[in-house]
Amino acid sequence: MSDNRRFRRGSGVFKCSLCGKLTRETGRSNSFVEMCPFCMEASEQYNLVQDEVISYDEFKNKVIPNLKKQYNRSDDVEKFF
Ligand SMILES: [Zn+2]
Repeated sequence: MSDNRRFRRGSGVFKCSLCGKLTRETGRSNSFVEMCPFCMEASEQYNLVQDEVISYDEFKNKVIPNLKKQYNRSDDVEKFF
């Protein structure tokens, strides 16, 4: 028996439209926007920039670094915004 759990083809697995990483549905309807949880959260936060709730500097220098830590990611996700 193998412990190598691979993504099953066609079962809620998709490529994140932002970072290109293979991801799967999390139940947060992230498959609708086709983003991984990390990018989806970043996008949600970016909405706050567009709504002028936070500044872009804050987004880039505070929000993104926090998300990277939280999701253990090193993507330059801010370059997409
Ligand atoms: Zn992503």
